Amino acid sequence: AAAKGRTLVWFRKALRVHDNPALSRGTLHATACQPVFVLDPWFCQPSRVGANRMRFLLQSLRDLDAQLRARGSSLLVLHGEPRVVLPRACKKWRVDSVTWEHDIEPYAKIRDAAVRGALERAGVECHAASGHTLYDVDEMLEKCKGAPPTTYQGFFKIVDKMGAPNAPIDAMEKMPGSFASSDEETKALVQGVADAYGIPTLEDLGYEPLGDDEGFPGVGGETEGLRRLRLMLARKEWIGQFEKPSTNPTTRFHGLSQSGKTKPKSPFEIAAGRSKDGDASTSGAEALMIPSTTALSPYMKFGCVSPRVFYHELTAVYKELEGKHSKPPTSLMGQLMWREFYYLVAAGTKNFDKMEGNAICRQIPWKKDRELFAAWENAQTGFPWIDAAMTQLRREGWLHHLARHAVACFLTRGDLFIHWEWGRDAFDRDLVDADWALNNGNWMWLSCSAFFYQYFRVYSPIAFAKKYDKDGQYVRHYLPVLKNMPSKYVYEPWLAPLDVQKKAGCVVGVDYPAPIVDHSAASKRCVDDIATAYAAHKDANAVAGKKRKASD
Ligand code: FAD
Repeated sequence: AAAKGRTLVWFRKALRVHDNPALSRGTLHATACQPVFVLDPWFCQPSRVGANRMRFLLQSLRDLDAQLRARGSSLLVLHGEPRVVLPRACKKWRVDSVTWEHDIEPYAKIRDAAVRGALERAGVECHAASGHTLYDVDEMLEKCKGAPPTTYQGFFKIVDKMGAPNAPIDAMEKMPGSFASSDEETKALVQGVADAYGIPTLEDLGYEPLGDDEGFPGVGGETEGLRRLRLMLARKEWIGQFEKPSTNPTTRFHGLSQSGKTKPKSPFEIAAGRSKDGDASTSGAEALMIPSTTALSPYMKFGCVSPRVFYHELTAVYKELEGKHSKPPTSLMGQLMWREFYYLVAAGTKNFDKMEGNAICRQIPWKKDRELFAAWENAQTGFPWIDAAMTQLRREGWLHHLARHAVACFLTRGDLFIHWEWGRDAFDRDLVDADWALNNGNWMWLSCSAFFYQYFRVYSPIAFAKKYDKDGQYVRHYLPVLKNMPSKYVYEPWLAPLDVQKKAGCVVGVDYPAPIVDHSAASKRCVDDIATAYAAHKDANAVAGKKRKASD
């Protein structure tokens, strides 16, 4: 049902005006409507949300404000705990109802229940609408009777029952008038920001500022997200041929800075960015950062781009290709569906973000070794491919999917045997696209804790990247210390004779760390340890099965 009277639309994700069910509900029959975003101190900590993601969020808020202003309204950014500031704001502005987008994350669920409780006690109606996923997750859960499938094939049976996702809702042309004024009480609600209605800067929030050439190169917001989506979808041949496993993990962004000015490109970057049909060099696409996949994930995470718009516009491209296109699980549609799959399993699994108490997660006696973990996190493992990827993660907040595979496998079942929850936490802080359901789900996958069980298939930190980038240009870019290392040794500098190391200006153990493990021995140990844990899992299941039978 649409909210009536004086309404407040509480933006959290869904930082967009197109296809936004919570915004539509809050505005359709409203006499007046105030859009707000609450900067919750729980999130505003560099140790929880890295500077890259925070900057992307602030940019997305600025873009949302501009979109709302173009429609006769504006965004008000409140500071404080939502369960405190929202009831205060609603009381002051005599709000009748509040709408927001449904969120399945554990912190959001507790927060939203507290806000709802406080508002309803004060007589304010609350409406939560689904919008972050293609389907309403609760409806999907009903279709699978509360027990989500843990295989992609099983998931597609539910998708078949759901039918095609609803068509997107167009952005409204005009917003109802807003009602917050810049009086003293409102100023108290937006405490701490110089400009009463303004969106703070990174520095206002206690972050070190990021330079124009630093961090994730794509600017946050709906405008840029939709532009990027449409430029990607215009590369029809590329879309038709998209096969995730054959996209190149050692690609990185064309040297695009936040200001949009492109920096000179190396031939490697141009080659890496060019799609099979070569059309990445057409004018609009040229101005994009072009890794080998869409790099839309930060826009999906914050809801700058609606998944339904992505789905329906991609379906239209497939129609034009008359069925000649790749198919799930590896196609681009397949990627959108992985997102949906993880959301469904995450919503229906107790303790999804933990090993203990998580029914779908294999119990594995992971090590908790702070020293090894720090070497991984700080790009000091001595394996150039792993350290380069971890440098890209820290610096740009984004990694190609297969680079995520490589570093996650190395940390867990491949080499270090460290708990996936630790790696998940580092990704959660540093990724611009950090998304609770996707991050936890993929970490469980990579560590062979759930969904994928071929633990004997270990990524080599040497041979894997070599396949894509023989000369190690990616490594040389992120680890300039290896810039002059001959290609033969760039992935294994410890094998270079000392005079070669000296000539390259990179002596292992002095200028760059020696490898922290012997990969062959470490991976063999990991495989054995997981095999033991799997056997214990099988035994435990057999015992549980017998007990069940006995009590039947
Ligand atoms: P594309 O290949 O262009 O795909 C389009 C969209 O589909 C993506 O933007 C994303 O929304 C979705 N998608 C693609 N791959 C996956 C996948 N494997 N699982 C779920 N959805 C997918 N993705 C996140 O968005 N947030 C995370 O926190 C995150 N953590 C990850 C952790 C690990 C250990 C691994 C291995 C993967 C993780 N991923 C995460 C999934 C995936 O790596 C990224 O979504 C993808 O690399 C983003 O790049 P893209 O937008 O170019 O993807």
